[in-house]
Amino acid sequence: MTFSAVIVAAGSGTRAGPGQAKQWRSLGGKPVLRWSVESFLAAGAAEIVVVTTEDGALVLPEVLKGLRGWKGARGGATRALSVQAGLGALSDRPADEPVLVHDAARPFLTRTTVDSLLSALVGKDGAFPALAVADTLKRAAPGGAVVTTSRDHLWRAQTPQAFGRATLVSAYEAWDGDTEPTDDAQVVEAAGGSVTIAPGDPLLMKLTYPEDFAMAERLAGAARITRIGQGFDAHRWGPGGSVWLCGVEIAHDETLIGHSDADAGLHALTDALLGAIGEGDIGDHFPPTDPQWKGAASDKFLIHAAELVRAKGGSIINVDVTLICERPKIKPHRAAMRERLAEILSLPIDRVSVKATTTEQMGFTGRGEGLAAQAVVAVETPA
Ligand code: MG
Repeated sequence: MTFSAVIVAAGSGTRAGPGQAKQWRSLGGKPVLRWSVESFLAAGAAEIVVVTTEDGALVLPEVLKGLRGWKGARGGATRALSVQAGLGALSDRPADEPVLVHDAARPFLTRTTVDSLLSALVGKDGAFPALAVADTLKRAAPGGAVVTTSRDHLWRAQTPQAFGRATLVSAYEAWDGDTEPTDDAQVVEAAGGSVTIAPGDPLLMKLTYPEDFAMAERLAGAARITRIGQGFDAHRWGPGGSVWLCGVEIAHDETLIGHSDADAGLHALTDALLGAIGEGDIGDHFPPTDPQWKGAASDKFLIHAAELVRAKGGSIINVDVTLICERPKIKPHRAAMRERLAEILSLPIDRVSVKATTTEQMGFTGRGEGLAAQAVVAVETPA
């Protein structure tokens, strides 16, 4: 099911302490807002609108650098006006397509929450994640007696909240403008819509007070998962004077035959990255039948795979390539290969490994018929 998202990041967030508004503050090494955008991208959002103040719009391109599929919108004086501005900025999308409205101050959104919201929304006008109240509730007016209150049937509503786009737009149009709703489900409830509860997530905590950031820093690691990908490639030796391996040209008395430059090291590594993020294989993205890839330098393929990782809000942890051949000798070129891979992937050199082995003259590599390459990568993405 396709869906779009509106992220409200137009608040000044003064309760979180002095200085920058909380959506721009760094959490686990990146801005709070970026967490939500990456999560929506990883969950498959077709379009994301980020609503900011005028000042926020100036820093947005830097905060979301390298991510695609989002656009900015200018917020209003209240949260309700900002949400409506965000809805208005969505492209001409189907009226019944779900839109998820989210507060930027809840950075740890997971795909599980998005999926359960979309399921809960079926047949309803709205769905929101919520947690049951576990603490005993007390009512205490200043100077009055403390009274214990039942927590039965009480829920703590979180965001994102899901609605059919047209349903939410018309509910806001019908909203009495004299009072300010504290969430979007309230607006749909008031318009007579049916709203249901989906499972909430304790990780979806809202960053409100300075002490929330300290806890969120400790949780940041739990909101990301590590994925492993592996790739394998082989090419046949043929007449030639040099060979490309891991992006480095080596003088040799043969070359590898292939549609592109036949750099088996880069091909295996590209497949490993695509595998880690479930994006098929190199042939899906660069069909060998397509004449534009004839003789192509294979760093293009690797750059594309790395961009796909980033577009999902992911980052590459490390890569490890093994070249399998009797000749040429790889060792004298390993340092140059690591440097080239580190450069293409923007990684520190100690996260890039190139190794080589022979097969003791056994098999097709041992007989000198061809060269093979294997690669393994680790990638971190939103959960
Ligand atoms: Mg190949």
